[in-house]
Amino acid sequence: MELSENAVIAVVGAGQMGAGIAQVCARAGYTVLLSDETCERARAGRSTIERELVRLVDKGRLAVEECWATLTRVELCQAELAYPRADLMIEAASEDRALKLAIFKRADELAKPGAILASNTSSISITRLAAETGRPEHVVGMHFMNPVPVMKLVEIVRGLRTSDETLSVVRTLSDRLEKTSIVSQDRPGFLVNRMLIPFLNEACFALEEGCGSAEDIDRGARLGLNHPLGPLELADLIGLDTVLSIARVLEEDFGDPKYRSSVLLKNLVASGQLGRKTGRGFYAYDGEGAKVRPARRE
Ligand code: NAD
Repeated sequence: MELSENAVIAVVGAGQMGAGIAQVCARAGYTVLLSDETCERARAGRSTIERELVRLVDKGRLAVEECWATLTRVELCQAELAYPRADLMIEAASEDRALKLAIFKRADELAKPGAILASNTSSISITRLAAETGRPEHVVGMHFMNPVPVMKLVEIVRGLRTSDETLSVVRTLSDRLEKTSIVSQDRPGFLVNRMLIPFLNEACFALEEGCGSAEDIDRGARLGLNHPLGPLELADLIGLDTVLSIARVLEEDFGDPKYRSSVLLKNLVASGQLGRKTGRGFYAYDGEGAKVRPARRE
């Protein structure tokens, strides 16, 4: 089973992940309906795609014609109007359980029978999202990595009632998007974030305790563990609000205090310093998103 070549994909949430997902789906030839909570944010997501594609053209990695064709396939569309047209929804709204439950409930009410409802959630139970719908066999996790156009992995999450057919459709789609897929059962944090988030959180504790500077913690992981980015740089890239939400799901759903979040992480989020997307997190960033220095904290 696979999506037809002229399938329509509704991407809900046009932030860093939604824009990336819309970009790769449109490049693979699908019609993409991109929505967000407000029209301005949806437009900002489309502008991100435009910028990224133009950058590829400038580097000689994308033909101008292909750039235009891809952009033409990304349509801005209110979510409620997108659901009835879509063969597949990929939800990429903020990592908030109540928000995602509401999106799945509404999408299920309006979507075509048989349409697949997927979530890019980093941690929230797919089984729980599916329980909000009348089609649990058609609900699945499609967890893309950041930045989507660059990263090769899609972690597919199988809810308790996800059908073999649905799993097969999203695996084939991942192939068409030139991604490698892995399958995780529905457990908090799935496979990737169950490993990653405790690592990022531990780096926050090390910084909070004064064990080392932010730069030395990151240098330690880059040069000592051969990671392309240190944990604090990566947390800034992911978004500290997203990191904290995932850490809270791990703590709550496993019921194990070993997953408690660092106070520094909670304070940064409370003060709106969310990493690259707000220009400041563990580091400060210029208007182009380039790291300028560790953010000073008195
Ligand atoms: P983001 O903050 O960049 O974007 C989230 C978007 O959701 C925003 O544009 C926001 O306006 C929108 N939104 C909020 N309420 C909405 C609603 N009711 N309807 C539609 N859109 C709504 O966050 P992001 O990093 O793109 O994360 C999105 C999802 O992807 C989260 O579930 C996150 O856990 C997951 N994810 C993130 C990363 C990462 O590295 N950031 C990696 C993998 C998965």
